Amino acid sequence: MNEHIHKNCDELLGSLSAYIDGELGPELCEELERHLAGCDNCRVVLNTTKRTIDLVQTPHEKPDLPHDVRERLFKRLNLDRYLTQRPE
Ligand SMILES: [Zn+2]
Repeated sequence: MNEHIHKNCDELLGSLSAYIDGELGPELCEELERHLAGCDNCRVVLNTTKRTIDLVQTPHEKPDLPHDVRERLFKRLNLDRYLTQRPE
């Protein structure tokens, strides 16, 4: 049984950022995903890397709040106002 070929880990983790960026060819993607499916270790690394990238990657222009978020916020604010002014 060599369902886990450890030499692949280094190799695949090396192209992880390219994979996350979507710069990897479909064949490599498939290979990587197949490996990830059977390798907890690499999956953890992928998740951690993804989260780190999400945190580090600041958008070039600060987008306005998405509409639904803003709407929800307004509703929330309205609601809060209602909640503070008690009917009594
Ligand atoms: Zn691995």
